[in-house]
Amino acid sequence: MRRLSLVLLWTACVSLLAVPAVRAGKALEIYFIDVEGGQSTLIVDPEGESLLIDTGWDDFNGRDANRILAAAKDAGIDHIDDLLITHYHSDHVGGVAQLASRIKIDAFFDHGLNTEDDTRGNYAIYEKIAAQSKRTIVKPGDEIPLKGIRVQVLTSAGEDITKPLPGAGQPNPWCASQPAPLPDTGENPQSVGMLITFGKFRFIDLGDLTDQKGLGLVCPNNLIGTVDLYLVSHHGTQHPGTGDVSNEPAIVYALHPRVAVMNNGAIKGGHPVAWQIIHDSPGLEDFWQLHYSMAGAEKHNVPDKFIANVGGNDEGYWIKVTAEPNAVFTVTNQRNGYSKTYTK
Ligand SMILES: [Zn+2]
Repeated sequence: MRRLSLVLLWTACVSLLAVPAVRAGKALEIYFIDVEGGQSTLIVDPEGESLLIDTGWDDFNGRDANRILAAAKDAGIDHIDDLLITHYHSDHVGGVAQLASRIKIDAFFDHGLNTEDDTRGNYAIYEKIAAQSKRTIVKPGDEIPLKGIRVQVLTSAGEDITKPLPGAGQPNPWCASQPAPLPDTGENPQSVGMLITFGKFRFIDLGDLTDQKGLGLVCPNNLIGTVDLYLVSHHGTQHPGTGDVSNEPAIVYALHPRVAVMNNGAIKGGHPVAWQIIHDSPGLEDFWQLHYSMAGAEKHNVPDKFIANVGGNDEGYWIKVTAEPNAVFTVTNQRNGYSKTYTK
């Protein structure tokens, strides 16, 4: 009996040692990882569960996978609970094989079948890796199961939610002046877009969703409501006169973000028209960029202290957000240590 007690005590001690260190302050942490104009966003909830949105590019030495690992290490996690792939362009899913060879990924989420010729190779690699684990195809209205936060899918495979979220659904005054979107095909409008909620804190990530589907979320009625933090869609890419337009005023102004983060590269995204719309968004307190944008030049970049990477490619600094359930949140620039807290 005594021997059994000792064994039980020993087992209890070992299990205690195996539990990861308690996360300070039980905050939500979001790392906007620099993948040079692609997407990789690591979210670690207050329970220590993780959601990675996209993996960045394929790279001969696994640059983006290594940057994701560095963020995971900083967050104190040793595996990815859920990997969500917004769509199958190389800047979003390209790094999946290199990442999967370096860290355990428990579950995969995506919009379903590939829709573009150019991305067939990416999809084949992804499909094979996801098949070794649990794969879920998400639809609007679904939720990604995490213990400490709520992740609601708003759009996927070209379908938007059709009913307003609780408290939303008001007419959107910006729709009247919004030109009808031009058609867009391929993978961008297939993007999985989601709202992440932690208490009163609301963060929206629409991947590379272009207007044709993006406007369906906010016109004529805003089905989402407002957000605290907005990830600039499609890296701030904006080709007026084509279907490749995101971040129109009817979307950004309706979401009324307090802070925007743009995951542009030095020579990818960060287009002046999109930049100006975000910059002018009513109620926006600050705009942060992962890179200085060459396209934006002097007039369409924020001050240096809000830019994580100012010297071109391969610096690899992230922007980190730490949020509390009362919607107070802090944004930190890894390059210079500059941080700012946003209180209501
Ligand atoms: Zn992209």
